[in-house]
Amino acid sequence: MNNTFQEIGNVLLNSENILLYPHLNMDGDAMGSAVALCRVLRSAGKNCYVLIEDKVPDNLAFMDHGYCTMDQNIMGSPDVSVCVDCGDEGRFPARVDKFRTSKLTVCIDHHRTTENFCDYNCVDPGSAATGQLIFKLIKEMNLPIDKETGEALFAAITTDTGNFQYSNTTEETHRIVAELYESGIEANKVSVAIYENNSIQRLMVNGKILETLETILDGKCALCYVTQAMLEETGAMMEETEGIVQQLRALAGVEVAVFLKEKDENTTKVSMRSKSYADVAEIAASFGGGGHIRAAGATINHSVTESLEIIKQKLIESLGA
Ligand code: 5GP
Ligand code: MN
Repeated sequence: MNNTFQEIGNVLLNSENILLYPHLNMDGDAMGSAVALCRVLRSAGKNCYVLIEDKVPDNLAFMDHGYCTMDQNIMGSPDVSVCVDCGDEGRFPARVDKFRTSKLTVCIDHHRTTENFCDYNCVDPGSAATGQLIFKLIKEMNLPIDKETGEALFAAITTDTGNFQYSNTTEETHRIVAELYESGIEANKVSVAIYENNSIQRLMVNGKILETLETILDGKCALCYVTQAMLEETGAMMEETEGIVQQLRALAGVEVAVFLKEKDENTTKVSMRSKSYADVAEIAASFGGGGHIRAAGATINHSVTESLEIIKQKLIESLGA
């Protein structure tokens, strides 16, 4: 059972020291949602930080005006810890101990595979972005959405909807964004910062990745991978491979796109996307991961080439015939 925005808002407004936990490998929704909530809670006089465990991606750094910290001693035991866009402890592994020191825990998330694991939970898989839930929570708390908060929420929503293109985009998504314009957001400026800020190394590594492209099941599934060697050769960073899986899904006839990232010789991160009917959250969950019907991921404890075979086998079982 979910708690209401009112209940969660009251918990936050009755607290002084608050830490926010976006998921590992932050995306625009995790970052934008956490920054927006942090900013409004500070405006209400709260001592609030976004606690992170990995670097803010370059194209999202424009939102961080002193909100994000890796310093777990930035405050003692917080009154409240809030998971933002992240629904299980495996999504913030290096911060779990700190999370557990909190007097109360809250989860605000929209992943299908999230189970209520906090004292207060708002998990809505029907919401295109956690940013939409944060918007409603802020309204419920009667806190102001200024331009900076509005742009963080816009960043959250544009990224998780594939710029309003994915099937999770609804009338409500557009209504919320329309209301954000009232706070003076410069949507094009945010989009340029997020989407038109790529390095040449990124383009070069994508070229190498595309050489690994293969399809199975008569072109229904497209798969490709990146290795550490490709990153070294091109000088690209792993996060610069973001977006390639969507390009695979965009191929005619492809229902499921899979992208594998070699973390080390025994660890592979898998990203999956589906176009119109396959449930990739279920496939990811069978490997201990999760996500949404149309976008999900997992970590497989095998080499990238072994993981490729494992995933192909699973896809053939799930989607073959
Ligand atoms: P991406 O492929 O962009 O890394 O992730 C796609 C979606 O699946 C995101 O919503 C992300 O939160 C979720 N996801 C990715 N990897 C994992 C994982 O290992 N566990 C869970 N529970 N969700 C994941
Ligand atoms: Mn999200």
